[in-house]
Amino acid sequence: MAAPRRSSVQVSIASVRVGGNAPIVVQSMTNTDTADVEGTVQQVKALARAGSELVRVTVNTSEAAAAVAPIRDRLAQMGVNVPLIGDFHFNGHKLLREHPACAEALAKYRINPGNVGRGSKRDPQYVEMIETACRYEKPVRIGVNWGSLDQDLLTRMMDENSSRAEPLTAQEVMRNAVVSSAVESARRAEEIGMRHDRIILSAKVSGVQDLIAIYTALAARCEYPLHLGLTEAGMGSKGIVASTAGMSVLLQQGIGDTIRVSLTPEPNGDRTNEVIVAQEILQTMGLRSFTPMVVACPGCGRTTSTFFQELAQQIQSHIRHRMPQWRREYEGVEDMTVAVMGCVVNGPGESKHANIGISLPGTGERPIAPVYEDGEKTVTLKGDRIAEEFQNLVEKYVARSFVRRDAQSTVPQAAVGA
Ligand code: SF4
Repeated sequence: MAAPRRSSVQVSIASVRVGGNAPIVVQSMTNTDTADVEGTVQQVKALARAGSELVRVTVNTSEAAAAVAPIRDRLAQMGVNVPLIGDFHFNGHKLLREHPACAEALAKYRINPGNVGRGSKRDPQYVEMIETACRYEKPVRIGVNWGSLDQDLLTRMMDENSSRAEPLTAQEVMRNAVVSSAVESARRAEEIGMRHDRIILSAKVSGVQDLIAIYTALAARCEYPLHLGLTEAGMGSKGIVASTAGMSVLLQQGIGDTIRVSLTPEPNGDRTNEVIVAQEILQTMGLRSFTPMVVACPGCGRTTSTFFQELAQQIQSHIRHRMPQWRREYEGVEDMTVAVMGCVVNGPGESKHANIGISLPGTGERPIAPVYEDGEKTVTLKGDRIAEEFQNLVEKYVARSFVRRDAQSTVPQAAVGA
């Protein structure tokens, strides 16, 4: 099991708690034009339905800022109450000043201290954004990104480094500058009047080793809750592997209070993938449970037909499809495990360890599929409808083994299954 949580400060973002002893929060970001109210509403709704507990939207133009309150209202009408976070750069101070409804509708402001203005403009614009957040009683995420690192700070630290007897490498100075930008900006926000428990920090980079080094240093220097994520993680398996590799090392040390997996979607791809990957990182690490886990063997020369892969995929899809309703109806169903195994070598054993499992016939084995529930063989399936029949058994298992939420007041907790 992972190390205990590090941050002692808890920040409230509307109804969502981040840091302290709160569960690690999953968040995501839309890629629609925020000025497109209907398109953004639909994507926020999809992300929230997939399990995103916070959703960030870009607020980059006057039209986008004007759309935020209508988006919030439309979502509320649909019963979608996920907190919205505004992502501000360059003109955030002006947009918040000119669009008070936007400032009010957002649950948190993300401020990039490297992008709030240059030279003499930087501090007044930063002050204005923080003062606006204070006035509307909103928390902020001070989100440093190495791609937009405060150049004045970096130049200063490079100059200081060059005069050292043993200068650090340029990469080490960059890492230190990212950490300093986050910590110094947070301190400045508190000087302006921001409450200590309304600040979350992030310091995103695109390299796994940089991410680990920077967040380890950041965690040692402050107690603010930390938003964790690899920026520009990339597409497909590369983005998933890089994000998982970097974040899991940190999460295992208790570093990270909210996470986002920044995947570049395939053209016309599903934006909700980043939510599912974030949930799977937390669930496979044993930090949270979101949806029943399907344990499937990789298959081998004993599974020469595609039937086994198809069944595993069908079961996974069925569970994802049914989960929103199950979650509403059954307490603890997200902790269920379902095993789909390819042959008798490990099939019965793994199936017995799951809540419900099926061991399919491998090549040359008798065409039967024993099913195990809570460690006991209950039925043997055969014929052409094995997939459908197994799905029905999973449905019945859920209904029988987990307490219905509306029956909780009358059913003793000892009766809760799994
Ligand atoms: S359980 Fe059977 S089919 Fe699956 S990987 Fe092991 S030996 Fe191969």
